[in-house]
Amino acid sequence: MEDTIAAISTAFGEGGIGIIRISGEGSLEVMKQVFVPAVKGEPENRKMTYGHIVDPDNGQTIDEVLCVWMKGPRTYTAEDLVEIDCHGGMVPLRKTLELVLRKGARLAEKGEFTKRAFLNGRIDLSQAEAVIDLIRARADKTYDVAIDQLEGSLSKRIREIRKMLMDALVNLTVNIDYPDEDIEELTYSKLSKALEEVMLQVNELLDSASTGRIINEGLKVAIIGKPNVGKSSLMNALLRESRAIVTEIPGTTRDTIEETLSIKGIPVVLTDTAGIRDTEDRIETIGIERSKKSFNEADLVILVIDGSSPLSQEDRQIMEYVDSGKTITIVNKDDLGHVTTAEDVRALLPGLQVIKTSMDRGSGLAELENAIVSRVYKGDIKQNESCMVTNVRHKALLEDAQQSLSDAMALTHEGEPLEIIEIDVNSAYEALGEIIGEAVGDDILDEVFSRFCLGK
Ligand code: GDP
Ligand code: ZN
Repeated sequence: MEDTIAAISTAFGEGGIGIIRISGEGSLEVMKQVFVPAVKGEPENRKMTYGHIVDPDNGQTIDEVLCVWMKGPRTYTAEDLVEIDCHGGMVPLRKTLELVLRKGARLAEKGEFTKRAFLNGRIDLSQAEAVIDLIRARADKTYDVAIDQLEGSLSKRIREIRKMLMDALVNLTVNIDYPDEDIEELTYSKLSKALEEVMLQVNELLDSASTGRIINEGLKVAIIGKPNVGKSSLMNALLRESRAIVTEIPGTTRDTIEETLSIKGIPVVLTDTAGIRDTEDRIETIGIERSKKSFNEADLVILVIDGSSPLSQEDRQIMEYVDSGKTITIVNKDDLGHVTTAEDVRALLPGLQVIKTSMDRGSGLAELENAIVSRVYKGDIKQNESCMVTNVRHKALLEDAQQSLSDAMALTHEGEPLEIIEIDVNSAYEALGEIIGEAVGDDILDEVFSRFCLGK
């Protein structure tokens, strides 16, 4: 008998309610031992019932709850499942869980409910991974992509591509096994056309991966510039503008402040390179080295220049290593005068995108936000978000498939024996299968599900 697992499935802390989830063949048994319905009777499938959690060993009432038993397989785990809605405090939840564990369930591992949904075939691995993305989403676009993947958009694409490869494999096998028979003849040109078509699809998915990573992890934006130009003011202004401030992560070093915000639904991780101390510590210098480092790690750099004073040696030094491809320059303090203009900056670095701003007046911010968001899509607005590759594991497997396909195409081109080509076609097929969790090892499953929280 598959063992029965239990956990607190809601977030820790105080809440209106907190839910204990129990899954497995023994879940109804466990429920019957700990739950006393207000109106006597056998639990009915999918019927939420009012009653109490009572310790049968001493008759003590632990909590007043609503309880439901759902018969598998149409449940989250595809197993028999019980949910107990307790009062949302740590003590009633912990006491109820302890009792449930004492009566035959064992504590679920991280992600074990979702793992069971996968192992029982209700969802595939990419859908299970989308569950984590959905829970962790800190911006609307991240959520949009996750919900589409949970609904199976990526799985469907992968299955379609694998079907094409399977057709090619069947043809290959037939021609290898019965080379002289008059079954549908597989010519090299036909094979090469099929592989090309698959390659096109794989490339298309891989093309979405750089935007996909940003949508999942956030666009890393570094704000650089010499002291007093308005970097911290910019950071604060952007945080104020975006209402969806979700987290405040202190920087990994004492010299940077990192904040996550959402700009038009895109998660953005902002770092102010000369954070925290620069306003109070007058010895603070810009630290060209430090800016260089954050410049290299960033997806996008916002270089801030004070438009109310002349360009200094320090400004020029910073501009020397700025790559205009990933930089937006703002000429700030527009309200104070125009000693340094956008044209002056562009003259030094042709091709640089320059925006005039005033943090005091809040001008130029909307333009800056639009510029930031359009960098995410790199002008490619036709990108299909519902089929975006956002997961690094998926990306690596697509790259494996791409490599095998390219090898198979080269061999086909050279007219090598079909047996040799088949090996690479098969590797591509298997790599794509791993994305949806076919024939993946326990190590990969452990890695995927260890990212989950307890109770999910
Ligand atoms: P940082 O050292 O680059 O982070 O610069 P801060 O954001 O700390 O700003 C330095 C000073 O310039 C502060 O006194 C700000 O109030 C002021 N400041 C920033 N932006 C503007 C602006 O657009 N106009 C005006 N008038 N003052 C600004
Ligand atoms: Zn600052």
